[in-house]
Parts: sequence; structure tokens; C-alpha cells
Amino acid sequence: MAKLLEINNLHTYFETKRGLIKAVNGVSLSIEEGHTLGVVGESGSGKSQTAMSILKLFEKNQKIYDGEIKFQGKVISNYNAKEMSKVRGNDISMIFQEPMTSLNPIFTVNRQISEVLMLHQGMSKKEAEQHSIEMLKAVKIANPEQVNKSYPFQLSGGMRQRVMIAMALACKPKLLIADEPTTALDVTIQAQILYLMNELKREMGTSIMFITHDLGVINQMADDVAVMYCGQVVETAPVDKIFQDSEHIHPYTEGLLTSIPRLNTDRSSKLEVIPGAVPHPLNLPKGCKFAPRCKYATAECRENEPELKEVSPGHAIRCFHPVKRGKQ
Ligand code: SF4
Ligand code: MG
Repeated sequence: MAKLLEINNLHTYFETKRGLIKAVNGVSLSIEEGHTLGVVGESGSGKSQTAMSILKLFEKNQKIYDGEIKFQGKVISNYNAKEMSKVRGNDISMIFQEPMTSLNPIFTVNRQISEVLMLHQGMSKKEAEQHSIEMLKAVKIANPEQVNKSYPFQLSGGMRQRVMIAMALACKPKLLIADEPTTALDVTIQAQILYLMNELKREMGTSIMFITHDLGVINQMADDVAVMYCGQVVETAPVDKIFQDSEHIHPYTEGLLTSIPRLNTDRSSKLEVIPGAVPHPLNLPKGCKFAPRCKYATAECRENEPELKEVSPGHAIRCFHPVKRGKQ
């Protein structure tokens, strides 16, 4: 299948008084047309920064130092602000964890969706208003006329997230980046939103980059997975390989897998979590970034940095000693 997005060896740093913060430190990944790539890792692993780099939504002290981002075969990482704003409006949309930060509190839903439609699809005000209601229907809002007239504060969290998705899809993007879109919602609403996103992906053929710290959600959503740690991709593979049938796995992914809560386990049994914490970005270890927390670490790991290497077709691991595992 054709690659829609390709990131090669991307480095995005923040310049601070205390030194360079390497938020994205050599990321390589790709998203195929019509696929969902799940990007997973603990907070501080560089997931959001990778997404922001794709859209160049940067702070003043932040920039791409090395590497490239290709979208539909074109290198977009060196686009200027004007070119980038076209990409953001027409080709790639993003939704965030808290829709209140991206919805404008003083405008109605109709005004916000209509603006996108008028700007990017050249619709008249009247057409846009009608289409805005259609978009709300598409994201399964039960009373679209009513919601269209509402202000964001009048809606529940789940409803606001649906409005955000409607807005993000209004310009028919080829890629939707969703950064923890359901983390702030309760479990039932989360399930509905995930179901909706899967349905929209099937109907509209939109590719999705789905960012989460929850490998359980990845299992429901993704075709492919990229596991991130300390600003790097440490493992990437089709979802089945990660969850079931790869012969080897990265020690960090193994840790994430054992920390997924399982419904049928005894609630009193302690959840296994990976001991230790993500290192401070100004104080990264010398060799493998995971070595201080890895139970398989050797002297080699502490001295040298492993590269992301293909272990089987489509499956790459950044580790000197990938864990061999039986069928789960
Ligand atoms: Fe662990 Fe070594 Fe692999 Fe790093 S390279 S994940 S320290 S085994
Ligand atoms: Mg984040």
C-alpha cells in the first residue's frame, strides 16, 4: 500500500537556557493510506511533539534540526508558514485531548464549522450552515440543529469532542492526527468516540495517527503501531505482531503490554508497571535510553545506542537484545 506520510530521522529540539531539549530525537515512522497508526508511550516520550512537528505547530524556541517529513511524496518539513497553513487546512487535521482548548468559547458550533467550510471548501455562508448540520449528523450527534446553534460550554465533554471531530473532518483531510482524544472522557463515551472514529475512517478512507499512552486502545484502533520512548521510536510493527505473533519484542513494549489492565484478572492483583521513570530530557543516558529501567540491560546497552533494525518484514526494533517470547 502507498505511504501517505513518511518521517525519516526527525529531530525537533527546544532551545532552553539550560541546553537543548531533544523532544524528538531521531524518529522514523510511516503511515499507509487508509491505515491507522497507533503511537504509544508514556508521557514525555515525544508522541505529541512528533505530531506537532508534522504540522509545524511550534513554540518560538522550537525547530526541526534534522530529518524530513514527507506527505504524499512531497517534503513538507521545509514548507514555509503559508504553505504549511494550506496543509493544515486541507490535508492534515488534528484533534486534541481537551476540545475546549481548540474550540472558541465565544462562537457557536455553526460559526466554527462554517468558517472551516467557507475558508477551505469555498462554500457560501448558507451552504456552509447546512453542511455544518450534515457534519454533526456524520459524527452521530442526535440533535444536530440544536447543537449547531449551541456554544461549546453548553455541551458535554463527549459532545464537544464529536464537534471537534466534525470540524477536523470538515475539510476532508487525508490524515487526521488525534492526540489522546478520549483520555479526558469517561469509559462509555470513550468507547463511542473510538467506534465513531473507526467508522469514519472506513467511510471516508481517512488515515489516522492515533496517539495514546494506552496500549489497550491501540489494540482497538490501530492497523500499525509505533512505540515511542525518549523521543525515539523503539519498535514499529503491524498491530497483530505486537499483540500476538512476533517472535521478538522490545523490552519496553513488553513492559507496556504487562501493564494493560485485563478484565478477567483478580482486581486485587497488583498491576505490573515498568519500574523507574522516563529520564529528564536534559539528562539522557549515554547508551540505550531505556537501559536504566531495563531488566535485560548489559554493559553494551549502557555504552552504545542501538538502532531501529528490521527483525522481520514490517517489524523493526531498537534493541541489542530483543525479548524472545512464546505465543501469548
Ligand atoms: Fe534493554 Fe539493552 Fe534493549 Fe536497551 S538495548 S532495551 S537496555 S536490552
Ligand atoms: Mg502528549
